[in-house]
Amino acid sequence: MKDDSNHDENRDPEGATCRFKLWQVAPGSGNADRFPVPDWRTLDAWITGNVEERLRPDAWFHAATQWIEALRPALGPTYTVLSSHPVLLVGARSPNELAGLLTFTCHAVEVMGDYLRAVPRSAIPSALPVLQLNTLELYYDYVSTFYEDGEHATSAGMYITRGLPHVVLAPGPVWDLEATIAHELTHASLAELELPLWIEEGVAQILCQLIADVPTFWIDHELAARHRFYWGLHGLDEFWSGRSFGKPGDAQRLSYSLAEVLVRNIAADTGDRFYEFLCASERADAGDRAAREHLGKSLAQCAADFLGPGKWEPKPEAP
Ligand SMILES: [Zn+2]
Repeated sequence: MKDDSNHDENRDPEGATCRFKLWQVAPGSGNADRFPVPDWRTLDAWITGNVEERLRPDAWFHAATQWIEALRPALGPTYTVLSSHPVLLVGARSPNELAGLLTFTCHAVEVMGDYLRAVPRSAIPSALPVLQLNTLELYYDYVSTFYEDGEHATSAGMYITRGLPHVVLAPGPVWDLEATIAHELTHASLAELELPLWIEEGVAQILCQLIADVPTFWIDHELAARHRFYWGLHGLDEFWSGRSFGKPGDAQRLSYSLAEVLVRNIAADTGDRFYEFLCASERADAGDRAAREHLGKSLAQCAADFLGPGKWEPKPEAP
């Protein structure tokens, strides 16, 4: 998107403004691509160089607002934008439903902060676009621009970290959208910690139930037996590395389920030490060192508590 007005409007004499024209400062694909995207790296450098630190959160919200306004027509003629700091919701539901979703998302942002108060560096970004897409075709069309090629599992939503981080929701009933929002907001809150995926997904499942009040956790003898059979056959390497969460079928279903079982069990056994474990966990070893230090046992032992004996040790990731 082009704008002919003067470039000097991007800053005031004191440099104390966070008003600027996104597509002048950081022109990206504009309307050339189906989904316009500014050059976020250029914008990041511009904001760092031109906007006082205290105003940068507002600058990012201002940028996100302009991006969403440019993206809206590319999604379809019925899409509208509602915003309440830090959330920018674009969707094509009825006005009442959209307003309800915005209220829920802002509530979830607040409650998420309370639940994760014990986790340093957990925070919702200063601008959080949420794209509520009304057809599966549009959803997969949009998210496929962020995927690598190959076979992928279906999803109800995604937290996209490339470019300006944002949430994308697949179509569904309102209660389902709310559960997905709560789940994806957990990813948004914990992104800076770069946790092993199984820990982040386990926490996201738990917070989704607490915040959206949707009971999704269950385990019975039959499901426990399925876990033992499946993981006994395939091993836990892809679970610890996070790859199994993106695979179709049982790999994905049982990965989410196992993540939640393990996180629930660890949290129940260790109380506040769970947060120490969480904050110290690293992707390179799936959190094994942090488990030994803060839980007093290895991840293999944590897994064996539920799956029974087996070779459950995580293999170190190749550097
Ligand atoms: Zn997730």
